[in-house]
Amino acid sequence: MSEDAYASIREEVAKLCAEFPGDYWRAKDRDRAYPGEFVDALTKAGYLAALIPEEYGGVGLPLSGAAAILEEIQRQGCNGGACHAQMYIMGTLLRHGSELQKQTYLPKIATGELRLQAFGVTEPTSGTDTLSLKTVARREGDRYIINGQKIWTSRAEHSDLMLLLARTTPQDQVAKRTDGLSTILVDMRAAKQGGMTIRPIETMMNHSTTEVFFDNVEVPVENLIGVEGQGFRYILSGMNAERALIAAECIGDAKWFIDKASAYAKERVLFGRPIGQNQGVQFPIARAYAQMKAAELMVHDALRKYEAGENAGAEANMAKMLAAEASWAAGEACIQTHGGFGFAAEYDIERKFRETRLYQVAPISTNMILSYVAEHVLGLPRSY
Ligand SMILES: Cc1cc2nc3c(=O)[nH]c(=O)nc-3n(C[C@H](O)[C@H](O)[C@H](O)COP(=O)(O)OP(=O)(O)OC[C@H]3O[C@@H](n4cnc5c(N)ncnc54)[C@H](O)[C@@H]3O)c2cc1C
Repeated sequence: MSEDAYASIREEVAKLCAEFPGDYWRAKDRDRAYPGEFVDALTKAGYLAALIPEEYGGVGLPLSGAAAILEEIQRQGCNGGACHAQMYIMGTLLRHGSELQKQTYLPKIATGELRLQAFGVTEPTSGTDTLSLKTVARREGDRYIINGQKIWTSRAEHSDLMLLLARTTPQDQVAKRTDGLSTILVDMRAAKQGGMTIRPIETMMNHSTTEVFFDNVEVPVENLIGVEGQGFRYILSGMNAERALIAAECIGDAKWFIDKASAYAKERVLFGRPIGQNQGVQFPIARAYAQMKAAELMVHDALRKYEAGENAGAEANMAKMLAAEASWAAGEACIQTHGGFGFAAEYDIERKFRETRLYQVAPISTNMILSYVAEHVLGLPRSY
């Protein structure tokens, strides 16, 4: 995979992003409003359908194509967090859904007629310990009756469908620890009329995240994806793609911070010379650049392995961790280089700083990645 393979896509994405400059994002951030115009523009241009195969109306790009799109969005100062999940949540449907489900949903997701960008996994009591989640989907005839609560379900208010992970067999009745959870496609338009309540959570950045409550929500059994009880495996298989894409976004953020910091360090003159002439100013930027380049190589490695059909678990996890740390280091260097101006909203740095911090916690926190590497790469005893 060559980086230049997507040069023209990056150029087009950059052009689209130019229509959504800093003041657009600042206003959305201030009002905690959803950037609907930006999401519509990306949808119309086909970018959110990048990973949907052409036979279902999408663009049919490999994962690295989607990564290039998301990286460029962040690099231009925009925020793909508003819609990145529309790109990859459908992967579970694509890989494990029936042909009928694919024909029913994918073409509409590709055009944007349907938004599938809510992913209901995390719960307040179980957190990272996904296998202990408590939301239950009980089968009654041709329906599932869903009860429970999800938390941090981002974009739920701006999605027509939710990919839900719920328990269909009690934990003490399963043969294997990882059995008994199922993935169900919930039509949120119907569910909101019948027992689903969404409550927004105010966060330090504008992320449209929510709590979702299920009170006897009925979903037809034909919305089960794949085999009942195998949902945890389906979710896991999609996570490597998600991690590689989020890592690409962090690389885009890091490049944005580094560009901004370098430009300002050249232009701000104090004591008769540009501040960037001082090693104390240029070294943190140079260090952040080196960190970003190393993380970028790991992202490329993860994408290459994923696209070769190999298990990219270790690389996707490490890419996400290193890229999130690199974007944070670049953000830190950028704020420091700007002195007081780094804190002024009109420079957009403090907004991007808040936005990029998330990726050391979600979609998986750094400790869990280190546990993965310790156990699965280094063969150390499982720590939890
Ligand atoms: C803005 C935002 C958007 C999100 N969007 C979504 C979404 O759309 N859908 C969704 O399902 N989830 C979403 N999440 C949830 C996210 O994936 C979780 O917050 C994340 O996985 C961490 O889980 P937790 O918050 O429950 O933390 P916890 O699991 O409670 O962990 C707390 C801390 O303890 C550490 N820790 C826990 N166990 C161990 C251990 N065994 N060893 C070492 N350290 C440990 C963790 O690393 C973490 O730092 C979102 C979260 C945020 C903040």
